[in-house]
Amino acid sequence: MALVRFLPLLTSIILASYIFYDCYSKKKPVLGIIFGLSAFIPIPIGPILYFLLIKPNLKTPIKKANQTFCSKCGFSSNSSFEKCPNCQNSITLS
Ligand SMILES: [Zn+2]
Repeated sequence: MALVRFLPLLTSIILASYIFYDCYSKKKPVLGIIFGLSAFIPIPIGPILYFLLIKPNLKTPIKKANQTFCSKCGFSSNSSFEKCPNCQNSITLS
């Protein structure tokens, strides 16, 4: 029954890998290492804390939503404009 002995270890490895890549994709590799390693201690308080407290607060970094983008020359600005300052192309916002 070797599988039964290795099953907890296998679970820990999968859990640690999942936590690490989850944090890494959200630009928090240090958190991934800390909570990933915590999956290997006998009391799984680290992963529990991670899923309850850390994961809901981690958000995938997204591009700023309110950006105006010129389809003609590719100029983008955080402030909205009706005419492109770069190529004078008029932008109609949908
Ligand atoms: Zn333009």
